[in-house]
Order: sequence, then structure tokens, then C-alpha cells
Amino acid sequence: MTSTNTPCRALIVLLLMTGMVACGEQAAPRTGTAAHADADRDDGHAEGVAATRIPADVAQRSGIRVAAAGPGTIADEHEVQGLLTPVEGRVAQAMARFPGPIRALRANIGDRVRAGQPLASIESNLSLTTYTVTAPISGIVLQRSASVGAVATEGTPLFEIADLSTLWVDLHIFGNDAGHITAGIPVTVTRMSDGVSAETTLERILPGTATASQSTVARATIDNRDGLWRPGAAVRARIVVDRADAALTVPLTALQTDENGRDVIYVREGERYAERTVTLGRRDANNVEVTAGLSAGEQVVVAQSFLVKADIGKSSAEHEH
Ligand SMILES: [Zn+2]
Repeated sequence: MTSTNTPCRALIVLLLMTGMVACGEQAAPRTGTAAHADADRDDGHAEGVAATRIPADVAQRSGIRVAAAGPGTIADEHEVQGLLTPVEGRVAQAMARFPGPIRALRANIGDRVRAGQPLASIESNLSLTTYTVTAPISGIVLQRSASVGAVATEGTPLFEIADLSTLWVDLHIFGNDAGHITAGIPVTVTRMSDGVSAETTLERILPGTATASQSTVARATIDNRDGLWRPGAAVRARIVVDRADAALTVPLTALQTDENGRDVIYVREGERYAERTVTLGRRDANNVEVTAGLSAGEQVVVAQSFLVKADIGKSSAEHEH
């Protein structure tokens, strides 16, 4: 093996590919792959522990980070989808009180109006005087269903106004999940359109079943004073039912799979990074429980673990005779 076959070289390639800074001068002259280092100690061949050596400064610059494995919590959480709807009772219609021709309409769809604001003038056929229709509630004009010159009949809805300062989020829960998702559970609602999230709490589980989807509806309310949440928009939500302690957890970013599809992580000792096959338990969106293959306190690669994986792969590929 020549001095060009350093694990660092593999990393240089990766770093260049990812547009990061390449290996430093100090790191370049190192000789021998980690596989050889192991082989020298063991039986003169590279089989056995897959490992590589990455100088500390290279690891630092390429964003490889380690953290001590230790106890953590795993959340029982459910990813669900739902829909934003106006809060019932906060939608109102402005109507003609007496029949007659519409002389003026003073609001358009999307306008923000306040309660009592004049919205239309109608000439009454009964009194031949003009009367004003005002907004029954403050809110946003959702619909305008009349035009100037048309004859309104008594009870004709002219405008539909909704108070959208809060909205309902109706989340669809399927199957057995409805059994342990109850009111009071925290939920993070995320807009599909731009990924913006809001925190809220499940208010109630509706008694019926949504007929089209055969789901149970869990309802929460979200604040919409900025008006950026729109009724009818689809959302996704994460419902965190519970958090359970786990003796040993690592972040999901630590996980890789080896060539046989087994779950592995990388444990650092000094500048040596060794692959470790692990048995996994419960997991949530961020962390996974490790039930075998790792001890508390061991230094686990938690950022850029794929760089370590690639470096180990490169080392063993170079070693093939
Ligand atoms: Zn659950």
C-alpha cells in the first residue's frame, strides 16, 4: 500500500464532491489505510472490524460530529393529515331585509370588514327608500353573491363573511390509533404549501366517523391572526401522544446500513472510527433506541455519518487484492 492510499484521500474526494474544504497538509502524508492498521494488529488481513482513521482536523472541517450515547426519550407520535376549516358559528351572511333593486355593493371578496360596516344599499320596493345592509360580524368577505342593478328578494344572501382569526384543524385518525389519541394531546400542525408550523392541542375527538375516509376526526384550533392559514388548505400534523424513557438512544442521523442492509453506527476512539452493528428498538422522528451493540458513554458519530461510511467503504475497496 502506498502513501497515496490514505483514508484521507477518500475523504478529499467526498469533500470536493460536496463542495467542502479538502484535506489539510498535516493530514495528507499519513500512510496506510485503517483496514491495514487493523490487519497488522490482527491476522494480517483486512477482514474483521470495518474501520477507518480520520484525522481530527479533517473530521472537524467535514462536519463529522460525535456525541456520547446515553439515555433519552422516544416519543409515541403519529403523523396524520387534515384540513383547515372555518370555525362553526363564525361564518355569517349579510342579507337583504326587503325586496328591491341593489343600488350599490361596497365590499369585494377578500376584503376585511368590521361588524356594522355598510356593505350594500338597496332600494326597498315597499317604502321606495334606500336602506343599508351592514356586516353582521367582523371578518373576511368569502363570497359576494349579488350584483348592482339586480333585484334582491327578502332574505337574499349578498355576502358571506367569515371570522378566520382562528380556524379548526380537522385531523384524520385511522383504525386503532383513535383509541389512544385523546383531547389535550399536543399537536404540531404544518402547512403543506410552505412547511410553516404551529403548535396547538387537540380539543376534542368528534363522536362520528368521517364517512368518505372512514376516519375519526380529531379537532384542534389554530390562531390565524396573520391570515396566512387558509380554510380548505391541507395540512399535516404530528401528534405526540407520549414520551417514554429509553436507556440508550442515538439520533437518527447516526444511523447507516452496511452492505448487507444491517443497521450500523460509527463509534470513534481517538481518530479511529469503527463500524458497529446495532439492534434497534423504538424510534421517533429524531431518535432511535439502541437495544444491543452499543454502551452508554461511547462516542457515536451523529453528524455526517455517511462520510464515515463512505470512507470505510473506500478503505476496504482499496484493500481488495
Ligand atoms: Zn401511538
